[in-house]
Amino acid sequence: MTTNRRDFLKIAGVSALTLMTPPLILPALAGENVRLPGQDFTPAKSLTAKRWAMAVDPSKCSEGCMDCITACHAVHNVPDFRNPKDEVKWIWPEPFAAVFPESKHAYSGQALQKMRMPVMCNHCANPPCVRVCPTGATFQRPDGIVMMDYHRCIGCRLCMAACPYGARSMNYRDPRPFIAKINPNFPTRTKGVVEKCNFCEERLAKGQLPACVEACKQKALVFGDVDDPRSEIRLLIEKHFNLPRRTHLGTAPQLYYLL
Ligand code: SF4
Ligand code: SF4
Repeated sequence: MTTNRRDFLKIAGVSALTLMTPPLILPALAGENVRLPGQDFTPAKSLTAKRWAMAVDPSKCSEGCMDCITACHAVHNVPDFRNPKDEVKWIWPEPFAAVFPESKHAYSGQALQKMRMPVMCNHCANPPCVRVCPTGATFQRPDGIVMMDYHRCIGCRLCMAACPYGARSMNYRDPRPFIAKINPNFPTRTKGVVEKCNFCEERLAKGQLPACVEACKQKALVFGDVDDPRSEIRLLIEKHFNLPRRTHLGTAPQLYYLL
């Protein structure tokens, strides 16, 4: 029996269609996940912004509260070397006089001078740390987050010298034995690597707010898109007097202290 050209094209067309649409015909054989009742494969919706920023209201912080620090350091495997000289810190408390030294004057109130407030990387819009890094280990995302690629860091500490806020810490020793409980969902670092706050970019990708914001029951930390005129952070900043740190340096910090 001979197959004419038209019959041949018909057979070839059906075969090609079958090859192009295997999931519709045989999903399991095609290596597809077969969705079982009760299983949800919907990816978590990430939080996105044009410019992430944080507003801090220190008047809401209760004396001695460490909730934000404990939460941040646990989530990010921050070691505790038990030695203030080699301390690694992502978020920590400082008195007003240290945070805003230029605002100190002879007649400013003692209560204000002593008021402690949480400080961290300011995710500066014009970050000097990024400019000096020779390897690209520290870089800025389009949404403003200043990131660290731990694998690229050669431990030269130029970024530490360039940051006017002391927001970066060096691991002078292997940090792993000094982590109380390792969170397997976040990388640990090695000796000779610099680290700092990352605005919880790994949590934002899963649709979660930063750990410090979630942990603060007093709502002293508000995180959001400062570029969005309807966002809570933007309305707070517009309504209340606020101070970013050392603005005269031109770094454009994205932490706004409500005072
Ligand atoms: S606070 Fe320091 S580490 Fe953070 S972005 Fe600004 S200069 Fe860089
Ligand atoms: S210590 Fe690491 S992140 Fe900092 S400037 Fe050097 S290579 Fe870059």
